[in-house]
Amino acid sequence: SRKFCVGGNWKMNGNKAEIAEICKGLTAGPLDPNTEVVVGCPAPYLSYARGLLPASVGVAGQNCFKVAKGAYTGEISPAMLKDIGADWVIIGHSERRQIFNESDELIADKTAHALAEGLKVIACIGETLQERESGQTEAVVFRQTKALANVIKDWTNVVVAYEPVWAIGTGKTATPQQAQEVHAALRKWFTENVSADVAASVRIQYGGSVTAANCRELASQPDIDGFLVGGASLKPEFIQIVNARQ
Ligand code: 13P
Repeated sequence: SRKFCVGGNWKMNGNKAEIAEICKGLTAGPLDPNTEVVVGCPAPYLSYARGLLPASVGVAGQNCFKVAKGAYTGEISPAMLKDIGADWVIIGHSERRQIFNESDELIADKTAHALAEGLKVIACIGETLQERESGQTEAVVFRQTKALANVIKDWTNVVVAYEPVWAIGTGKTATPQQAQEVHAALRKWFTENVSADVAASVRIQYGGSVTAANCRELASQPDIDGFLVGGASLKPEFIQIVNARQ
């Protein structure tokens, strides 16, 4: 009985007018009450979006730093996100890993600190096309998950987002079978390396070119507990993705 959880990752998109429009759509819904909904909003607009959204929709930062405050020009602390009413943060997105060179260790440190500050974390993992084609998919996602498991004592407030890099923004969605296979392997990894309880309860989202057209079949897979949606989260079809299990 893992609650289905759908996140929208707006990435570096939107302005006040566009964000108001998206929030209007989410307010009108209808949103399946059995689905937890979170939107990852660009930092300058977090407070604005929080004010426009119903309380049932969580708001997430898209990144944070690993300490509470100090001389870290340009960074945002989990305490600041909490202070303005964001209760989630997305950490370790492949764009952070690839474009901003974030390591497994930095991502783990950020996750540990965000959890300690009381934020809920969407922790992203996933292999590149080259890694998949060379048969390293499981090795990569296990390594990324292990770095997190080294520092996470309590997984209650963690959602794992499996986002194969080759499926992000490419229109090449993983097939339901490809996604299910990795989700099942991850759950087995949790059983063997963390605990049976965590394996049974941790939610694993799929991300990568999820649309209204492909979400239902993905959502019917036993180990897919939600989605992390990029491009489609900026559009009205996000509502249909939230309601994929209805
Ligand atoms: P797209 O849905 O645009 O492929 O992006 C997925 C993603 O990166 C969500 O974090």
